[in-house]
Amino acid sequence: MVSAAAVEAKGVTKVFGGGPDSVRALDGVSVTIQENEFFTLLGPSGCGKTTLLRLIAGFDFPTEGEILLYGQDIAPLPPFKRPVNTVFQNYSLFPHMTVGQNIGFGLEMLNKPKAQVDARVAEMLRLVRMEELRNRKTSQISGGQQQRVALARALAPAPKVLLLDEPLSALDYKLRKDMQIELKRLQNETGITFIFVTHDQEEALTMSDRIAVMSKGHILQVGAPRNIYDHPAERFVANFIGETNFLQGELAGTAGSKANVRLACGGAAIAATLPEGFSPKEKVTVVVRPEHAQIVGNGTRATLTGKLENVVYFGTDTHFHVRLQDGSEFIVRQQNNRTNPHKFAQGDQAGIVIDDNAAQVLRD
Ligand code: ATP
Repeated sequence: MVSAAAVEAKGVTKVFGGGPDSVRALDGVSVTIQENEFFTLLGPSGCGKTTLLRLIAGFDFPTEGEILLYGQDIAPLPPFKRPVNTVFQNYSLFPHMTVGQNIGFGLEMLNKPKAQVDARVAEMLRLVRMEELRNRKTSQISGGQQQRVALARALAPAPKVLLLDEPLSALDYKLRKDMQIELKRLQNETGITFIFVTHDQEEALTMSDRIAVMSKGHILQVGAPRNIYDHPAERFVANFIGETNFLQGELAGTAGSKANVRLACGGAAIAATLPEGFSPKEKVTVVVRPEHAQIVGNGTRATLTGKLENVVYFGTDTHFHVRLQDGSEFIVRQQNNRTNPHKFAQGDQAGIVIDDNAAQVLRD
């Protein structure tokens, strides 16, 4: 089944202010978010995530470009007429009202009949598993419970798209983990498109169907978590998400999205995935995740060789720091095996085998 585009941003630019002090918060952003997707905008502070969310919600307007909702330009629609709702970082609950009143508030504003509001509030309380707290004031419930009320309130009018602006950042680590699972469940059960904003890469990787990585008002890469993690095509993305090894080299041969790269640290040329836009013989940077390589004895099977400078035990896994022949460092992360522990020690000459399909050429 081909799913419909729920939200489309087309060449969206947002400039705040004028003259030399103006800020280009978004610069020609184009992205399509599918119906029923859990879509995450991920990037560091100030990259434009909240600005994009606010434009979708209608709290602000693009300087250039347009935003379509199910194919319709939504520019003429004020926020309350858009089938979109927002969960804010600080929840914005009414402390003097009960949980039930908070959840029903939006529906009452829409003049829905009381019986309908009551039924919907009960349904939402069931959904967020808070039936017993219906009559409690929101000032008398915990942070995690407030988060659930904020979600229930935003979901009550059955929006087509739910915007979530760093909704878990005020929660402590354990609660945040629980709420990540809870959010995913809510999205599955309601089938509503979620657009989630975070600067936390782990949160993005664990919850999203797709992630857009943003930097300085641009979307650099869009893809499924595994794709973004395994094949970061941009240096910023490789650096921002997870740890990685950077290797210098030169293209020795290319065929479509595949390349052979001769590495500066020696050894045979390695196969790597190649983004578009490279010329033959170009100098390139290749990235390999530390867990996508194995440490082996200094034999012929190794792709790279070097001296083991450090062996760091982390309980679940061990990190091997290898100094390669060109002076660069390569880290291999290997899961610990109780029955067959590794036999490498600091100072050993070691080999590294890079897994198939693990090397990626970077666009700088
Ligand atoms: P954070 O994670 O810190 O919330 P963000 O990625 O959501 O960051 P935005 O809030 O979208 O970033 O801000 C993008 C840029 O636009 C920043 O440089 C910010 O200072 C600027 N900006 C945002 N809103 C305004 C405004 N109303 N007036 C002027 N500049 C603004």
